Amino acid sequence: ALLLQDRGKEDKVMVSIRIRPTTSPAAWEVTKGQPRGIKLFPQYGRSTLSSPPQFNFDEILTGSENKPVYNAVARSHVCAAMDGYNAVVFAYGQTASGKTFTLSGNEEQPGIIPRAMKDVFACIRRTPSREYLLRCSYLEIYNETIQDLLAPPSSTTSHIVEIHGSGSNVWLSPLREEVVTSLKGVREVLERGNANRRTATTNWNERSSRSHSVFRLVIESRERGESMGSAASGRSTPGPPRPPTPGGPRLQALGGRSVQMSALSLIDLAGSEKATSDRERTKEGKYINQSLLTLGTVIGTLADNAAKHKADYVPFRNSKLTRMLQPSLSGNARISVICTINPDTDAVGESTSTLSFAQRIK
Ligand code: ADP
Ligand code: MG
Repeated sequence: ALLLQDRGKEDKVMVSIRIRPTTSPAAWEVTKGQPRGIKLFPQYGRSTLSSPPQFNFDEILTGSENKPVYNAVARSHVCAAMDGYNAVVFAYGQTASGKTFTLSGNEEQPGIIPRAMKDVFACIRRTPSREYLLRCSYLEIYNETIQDLLAPPSSTTSHIVEIHGSGSNVWLSPLREEVVTSLKGVREVLERGNANRRTATTNWNERSSRSHSVFRLVIESRERGESMGSAASGRSTPGPPRPPTPGGPRLQALGGRSVQMSALSLIDLAGSEKATSDRERTKEGKYINQSLLTLGTVIGTLADNAAKHKADYVPFRNSKLTRMLQPSLSGNARISVICTINPDTDAVGESTSTLSFAQRIK
């Protein structure tokens, strides 16, 4: 049995567990314990563990409702991004444990991405004193190659995106960024990206479980009535130079002194399961494991540095994902990691390894 309990909030890194409903009669028994504590009994293991290992997490969520999940693990991060802080939400877990359900959801149960965007537009409506510019991008990292999911599929130009710059001054190019002004606009962008993602591959299932997908919203804002300056200064957190914004002058990046700029990144990670085929063991599996391992080390070190006021070296450069996210993870950025768990008995090995990952980064 595993005893899971909650721990302090307001940390730089929030780590939570989401246990999906079971699809098998031989599932772990989930028992509510202390506030946000849960006991999991793998049915065959109940008698073998005399002292259950204890894990502590910020939230432990069960069930099929996406709203409470959003409210518990993503809402405050979206608010932080609207206040000018960089924020990142990750879904980590083995394939079919509920990462995409949690982040994207479906018609009846919209996930974190649509709920976040709804809150972003609501926040803008509530803040008439500021003007905003929202740009979104959507990309995929597969075998350590970044692909722009918004690049027109018919174009002959490359969809491969390179990382430029260094340290906290990192930017991606060529990368298409779409200015969005409504929920409908965001939905169209996501649908286009998902369609491109599907047509770009012959083996969609394998590919989607082996790649990271990154949806990123760059939020710029300033007080209304301020004069447009040509020198874009202010808090340029996602890293200058700014990519060209399509659509003419009205859509140019906001200028002026007190421009606030932040990024909200919502990331559906590659499946965390061990390599399942020989081919994967040799090539892709290695990349995936390397990149998830690096993510664990990076987030773990950031959390530790923040908690103990240290400045230990953070190996951002060991993977494309952490390197492109470096400006969004450093400084006073807020990070939320949702680890999704399948309670079926035959997934107990992967679930335990997901819990260990969650433990390591907290
Ligand atoms: P992943 O992205 O981790 O591979 P999915 O999100 O695609 O997994 O989930 C696999 C299946 O299980 C999907 O059909 C999804 O709708 C369903 N599912 C996942 N989590 C839940 C949940 N919490 N409640 C209900 N259905 C879920
Ligand atoms: Mg998925």
